[in-house]
Amino acid sequence: MIQSFKLNVQRLGQKMPVYIFKVDDVLIDTGPYSMKNEVRTIFKELGVNEVIHTHHHEDHTGNSSWIDRFYSIPQWIHPLGVIPCTESTKLPLYRAVFWHNRPAFSPLPLEKRVFNTPEHSFEIVHTPGHAEDHIVLIDEERGICFSGDLYLFHSPTSNFSFESVPELIRSIDKTLQYSFQDMYCSHQGYLKNGRRLLERKRDYLVDLQDAVTKAHLEGQTPKEIRRHLLPKNKLFQYISLFENSPAHTVNSIIKEIS
Ligand SMILES: [Zn+2]
Repeated sequence: MIQSFKLNVQRLGQKMPVYIFKVDDVLIDTGPYSMKNEVRTIFKELGVNEVIHTHHHEDHTGNSSWIDRFYSIPQWIHPLGVIPCTESTKLPLYRAVFWHNRPAFSPLPLEKRVFNTPEHSFEIVHTPGHAEDHIVLIDEERGICFSGDLYLFHSPTSNFSFESVPELIRSIDKTLQYSFQDMYCSHQGYLKNGRRLLERKRDYLVDLQDAVTKAHLEGQTPKEIRRHLLPKNKLFQYISLFENSPAHTVNSIIKEIS
């Protein structure tokens, strides 16, 4: 059985929903620490025997330390996420306001390729680009994919400094090799025909990559490319002190050309 829980994070007049999911007796992600009361209430009612994290970011692992302290159940993450989780985060202010810092915890390295729950068999697919330890979980028989932060929006015009557009394209292509239709996104919840949305994002990013590459080879500077192709997203750039900016989108593409 699959259950979705929407955590309504509201700060500074902005809404940022986060979803956590329960599949049989397994919890997928633990939400941000800023929603600890909601998550603890949900968790206590659920009967969870294991936790899988889609990646180490603070809005996906915020309550894992509390689970470690009070429940002796295994909590898994891709091997590349183990070390980042053993330290508390020191977030930039705009992220701390929404999510709060994530207390340290000790996850186990998820090394198996297939993860079974009583009613599902999931392929664990490594999908870096948003985070180096990012995974998606796909049950081909049921046609579903837990996509973490791989999807989010179909046409993003800005990226975080730690993201890579070419890597995201490769990870989306890799995911689309599996057979599924419906998707469970960590910030949009259940998306019927999520596959089509993910294809749309891939097509958008490939077009963007082609346009940036062409402009770069024609001799345009990254700043010119950004102004022509990605003129929006001013506000969030400033709020994030440029940790999120179209400059990162452009630079991550150029980096792979030269
Ligand atoms: Zn993330």
